[in-house]
Amino acid sequence: MELLDQLERQLQALDQHSLRRRRRVADTPCAPRVQVDGRAMLAFCSNDYLGLAAHPRVIEALREGAALYGVGSGASHLISGHSRAHAQLEQALAGFVAPHLESARALYFCTGYMANLAVLTALAAADSQGEAEIFSEALNHASLIDGAKLARATVKVYPHRDAAALDALLAASSAVTKIVVTDSVFSMDGDLAPLPELLAVCERHGAWLVVDDAHGFGMLGAHGRGALEHFNLRSSHLVYVGTLGKAAGVGGAFVAAHASVIEWLVQRARPYIYTTAAAPALAHALLTSLDLIGGAEGAARRAHMQALIAQLRSGLRLRRWQHIASSTAIQPIVIGDNSQALAAAAALYQQGLWVPAIRPPTVPAGTARLRITLSAAHTSDDVAQLIDAVHALEALHTLSAPDAPNSTERAA
Ligand SMILES: *Cc1c(COP(=O)(O)O)cnc(C)c1O
Repeated sequence: MELLDQLERQLQALDQHSLRRRRRVADTPCAPRVQVDGRAMLAFCSNDYLGLAAHPRVIEALREGAALYGVGSGASHLISGHSRAHAQLEQALAGFVAPHLESARALYFCTGYMANLAVLTALAAADSQGEAEIFSEALNHASLIDGAKLARATVKVYPHRDAAALDALLAASSAVTKIVVTDSVFSMDGDLAPLPELLAVCERHGAWLVVDDAHGFGMLGAHGRGALEHFNLRSSHLVYVGTLGKAAGVGGAFVAAHASVIEWLVQRARPYIYTTAAAPALAHALLTSLDLIGGAEGAARRAHMQALIAQLRSGLRLRRWQHIASSTAIQPIVIGDNSQALAAAAALYQQGLWVPAIRPPTVPAGTARLRITLSAAHTSDDVAQLIDAVHALEALHTLSAPDAPNSTERAA
């Protein structure tokens, strides 16, 4: 019982600090209008930025993929799980990002989390002395932080968006293998990494630049090719990670880089090798996602998204809370205190608006926030409704900060 007592105490501590997280059960497909725990809600939480997660063509492609390839892949890629669908998808992805990488090849992963673990561990393992150094941006996604740990490399953290600080760190490093890693769009703030500056610094110091474009792929650039297209970059130093469960609406991720980098991952990346290949039908469905992203429909959806972002940015007028007005679909409202952020999310929820409260350790202490994410599937009326509700709530909220959401959890 001692072990369980310890757990119970830790869980109670989470409650005391308003850090207990809970899951809500969605009964309907991922879309702005969802039914959650039996209630109709307007949601601003998903990363389904283009509204492809329930797109009729993608649904039909998944059905077709299951008919063609069955459901399970049956084995890892290196044993027998690598299907024609995976191969076609990798070829299509490589072609998609080819303008930005030398000798581009792509490798499909089950998740972005695994792709990031794979890239950092395998690149670090390529250092024959075992002395690779990883230079990690301060606000990087958890999967990059974990990948750096798993790589057992020396890790140096450089300040947010600070290419000059990175330059100094690289100059001071005597490591042969230097790996710089950054989110392109920061997942909790929505701002962009200064990739052209970072790449110039990396090329000067002979470092790899690993770009995690989880929130840029499908969204940035005229063709939705992501952050590299947005900044018009091309380099043999780039290792690109795109995820396919966000704008692409399905699931999984890919790494694109010079063919030799990809071959090394196939040979050495444990998160690639020692896991069952994702269902081939997912890869098959992703061919249709990719088609939509790169075509006229994708362009129209991105344009609509830009209009929604502009509407939110110009419409939101906050006094106490701070809107981090980004140029992307991620639009945080920083409240600060954990329990107040939680109370704000609960109050919006009461009104039928689903906006998540993000608390530490996902964001720094004292910066708990509402994280609004927009989707091209939202209408202008949806955004207007959100703006009105946030304005009314901020005015009210000055008065009190109840921690009611937790009491139900303690009772549960
Ligand atoms: C979501 C996300 C990931 C993980 O991707 P999954 O496919 O969901 O595992 C990695 N990096 C960033 C920046 C993300 O936002």
